[in-house]
Amino acid sequence: MNSNQSSSFSLTVAKFGGTSVADFDAMLRCANIIKSSTSNRVVVVSASAGVTNYLVRLSQENVALAEQEEIIANIGAIQFNITQHLEATVEEQLNSEINQLLDELSQQALNQSQQFSAKTADAILSFGEQFSSRIFAQVLRSIDVAGEYFNVQQVMKTNSLYGKAVVDEQQLKSACQQLLAPKLVDSVIVTQGFIGQDGLGNPTTLGRGGSDYSAALLAEALDSDDLAIWTDVTGIFTTDPRITSQAKAIKEISFGEAAEMATFGAKILHPATLIPAMRHNIPVFVGSSKEPEKGGTRIKQQVESSPTFRSIALRREQTLVTVKSPAMLHASGFLAQVFAILAKHELSVDLITTSEISVALTFDNPSGTTQALLTSTVVEELEQLCEVSVEHGLSLVAVIGNGLDSARGIGQSIFEKINDTNIRLICHGASANNLCFLVQEQEANHVVETLHDTLFA
Ligand code: ADP
Ligand code: ASP
Ligand code: MG
Repeated sequence: MNSNQSSSFSLTVAKFGGTSVADFDAMLRCANIIKSSTSNRVVVVSASAGVTNYLVRLSQENVALAEQEEIIANIGAIQFNITQHLEATVEEQLNSEINQLLDELSQQALNQSQQFSAKTADAILSFGEQFSSRIFAQVLRSIDVAGEYFNVQQVMKTNSLYGKAVVDEQQLKSACQQLLAPKLVDSVIVTQGFIGQDGLGNPTTLGRGGSDYSAALLAEALDSDDLAIWTDVTGIFTTDPRITSQAKAIKEISFGEAAEMATFGAKILHPATLIPAMRHNIPVFVGSSKEPEKGGTRIKQQVESSPTFRSIALRREQTLVTVKSPAMLHASGFLAQVFAILAKHELSVDLITTSEISVALTFDNPSGTTQALLTSTVVEELEQLCEVSVEHGLSLVAVIGNGLDSARGIGQSIFEKINDTNIRLICHGASANNLCFLVQEQEANHVVETLHDTLFA
């Protein structure tokens, strides 16, 4: 715990992502990481790799019974493949819990196929972490670590915005101090990322990739000294290492820079992860559970170097909406009307550029929901005010760094080598830490590779 707390031990919250808990060997590696330091007392797990994707399918409308059964069998197989490596009595006990959860899941899936609701969708999505956390607690016990399963829904209370629920941070803090902190003296608590519970007792979820955020919220609520995010890469890289093998691991990065990366699409961290960490000044470590000996990235308040160019993030599936009206010329209140319509439909605008009679707005559109809203209701309402054009299939490239608003020559450095690309929109000047632009989806990887070669050669 923080040095200003009277406590005899330091506390690290450790989060393991889906690939880190994908199978027995992966879980065992994670369990050994936990065992290697007595500070590791709270473990937050994601669902085993692939499980949430299966659950997403199950949570959709009109899934045929045969497909439901096939998906549930596949999810079960992932769990039983892990439990078979445990001691027979433990395996038996776990399998009976898993079978009970699978029965509940089948029932929810059946209900959902008959009558869809966002509430049931979240109930379905919440199962993945329920399986992995129960199993991981036992894997810890198999190597003599006092792992104890804890249902995070007791403390992670949220509103009922299913799919993107908002956590009651004050309640989390007091419930953690009351229900969780006392357990940390004797046990290593294993709990679920991604899920919470609303005021009516229904399961909720915090958005895809939300386990990082859960871990950060728990670290804050428990006055943790550290947060460790264990994943499948050896830290935060100068860009997604899947895009270019030239990407290099970053040893140290400031909260602000890492938060910009997460916001602009670096999948390594859920966008909200660093908010609690920054608020409470909790240093964050990011490393690979497969290769812990390789070290990783430290994210903290003060760092030794603040280079002009730190990294490049890429966010796919962006939608650009251009609204145009001669009435905007010298008129006041037009933009307020546009934004009122967007706010009414809970659409959150990312980037904005304006000219005399038109405004371009971008929307993050990962699951197609924005697209559905924009084509149906919103566009019609906007069209009452102005001409509207909607473009899909774009990607947002964000150059992250320091002093980008005041450094000279950065425009040339960034755009010189990609001058054959159609840059659809540029945003620069609002932040010292980023310059972003939109390109066509099919050109995005090439643009990031070229830019990476230019800025980080
Ligand atoms: P987990 O399941 O552990 O949460 P994720 O798949 O959500 O893991 O995040 C890890 C992935 O993030 C990496 O495999 C990598 O492809 C991607 N990624 C995107 N941008 C970066 C970056 N700048 N540095 C490292 N990884 C990145
Ligand atoms: N299991 C959830 C997902 O796949 C949450 C997470 O992994 O962070 O999105
Ligand atoms: Mg993730």
